[in-house]
Amino acid sequence: MRSRRVRLSDFTFTFHFHALEKEMDVSEFAVSLPNSPIGPHRTDLAPEVLGEIDFLTLHSYQDNNARKTINQDLTVPICNQNTENTLDYKSSDKVFRVHVEDENHISLLHELASTRQMDFWKPDSVTQIKPHSTVDFRVKAEDTVAVEDFLGQNGLRYEVLISNLRSMLEAQFDSRVRTTGHSYEKYNNWETIEAWTEQVATENPDLISRSAIGTTFLGNTIYLLKVGKPGSNKPAIFMDCGFHAREWISPAFCQWFVREAVRTYGREIHMTEFLDKLDFYVLPVVNIDGYIYTWTTNRMWRKTRSTNAGTTCTGTDLNRNFDAGWCSIGASNSPCAETYCGSAAESEKETKAVANFIRNHLSSIKAYLTIHSYSQMMLYPYSYAYKLPKNNVELNTLAKGAVKELATLHGTAYTYGPGASTIYPAAGGSDDWAYDQGIKYSFTFELRDKGRYGFVLPESQIQPTCEETMLAIKYVTSYVLEHLY
Ligand SMILES: [Zn+2]
Repeated sequence: MRSRRVRLSDFTFTFHFHALEKEMDVSEFAVSLPNSPIGPHRTDLAPEVLGEIDFLTLHSYQDNNARKTINQDLTVPICNQNTENTLDYKSSDKVFRVHVEDENHISLLHELASTRQMDFWKPDSVTQIKPHSTVDFRVKAEDTVAVEDFLGQNGLRYEVLISNLRSMLEAQFDSRVRTTGHSYEKYNNWETIEAWTEQVATENPDLISRSAIGTTFLGNTIYLLKVGKPGSNKPAIFMDCGFHAREWISPAFCQWFVREAVRTYGREIHMTEFLDKLDFYVLPVVNIDGYIYTWTTNRMWRKTRSTNAGTTCTGTDLNRNFDAGWCSIGASNSPCAETYCGSAAESEKETKAVANFIRNHLSSIKAYLTIHSYSQMMLYPYSYAYKLPKNNVELNTLAKGAVKELATLHGTAYTYGPGASTIYPAAGGSDDWAYDQGIKYSFTFELRDKGRYGFVLPESQIQPTCEETMLAIKYVTSYVLEHLY
């Protein structure tokens, strides 16, 4: 194992003792450094450089160096989300799928997650694992053997979804389109998407107008495209993409949608009717800072890039940051967690921008659509509780029709239902929030695939994914037009 030179001050320690369900403060611990000439240190000394190590072992610590065992020594692998450059995936980074049957399996995965760095792909965190489900996660190259041993020894049924993440990351750019500029069949970086928003609006002034609805934490402009024939008092559908940075198929879909709108207006009867009668507000990338980061530094980044007080851990999960049962369930109040809900509801500038725009246009917005990946699902409220929305039956029927329509093109199977019971409970989501603002038709789409490629869906799947998703979106749009309120 290759040792890394680390400094303790770069780390933020938050330990979740699942058995105790209690967070323990790091000041209660002493740190020892196996294989290090430096020897044990107290964390509050915060030495600059600790040495070449792989693991930190933490002992419970109290009363002038008198060690007292509160729980057990805890050895944690050295991993620092702020300094690692995960673009440089070792060739043997792997993505596992574990079949979880019961609570015992869930505890085992909690145990594993407390000693190994696991990047959860589905569900979003270890706390959201349910019995009778599958769990997808990435582990670093150096941990794969230990993880496989652990799974095997404990009788957990698993498969390796991606055995070589690096080659998969290279393989995602398999589009045959040669251009280095914008392409609807390629993943475009933010610079290219930003230029595209301007160009597509300039080239289609009768159908598209571009506005800015805010800026991100790092100062990037959040653009919104209004797509529709100019008219007064038109109803509208709001659709956003790119909440989670690594879900690249999502922004690709928003771009595709806009292209289809301008390409088929006046030629295809339904799109023509839609754009005559209503407006689409399309937000191509919400989490621009995170999206940029997935291109420059860490392809697997999920959250925003905002800094958090008192820690070096960065970012908030935008889809846990809305004021809908905020941080009550399926979200973490630890800034280092992938599902960090933020310091308060709407603490993030990106959340504020979306929420303010929707609040200011509540009288016209009749549907809210938010595009994520992956798992092929169409979800409606609620996710922050197991309660059902008032028009549950209507939403269920609408989702059923939409996924049936979607499947007609390539046979892609979607499941659908209320978020909490269909996928897992998660508070602070934009769909629940929009619904509680009075938007009756509120859906989260989880696009392709079901885990074969996960977040690294190849570009060759952009076209079929977007084409089939268009069918579902158009189905919903037709329904909304027939059921204006
Ligand atoms: Zn997502």
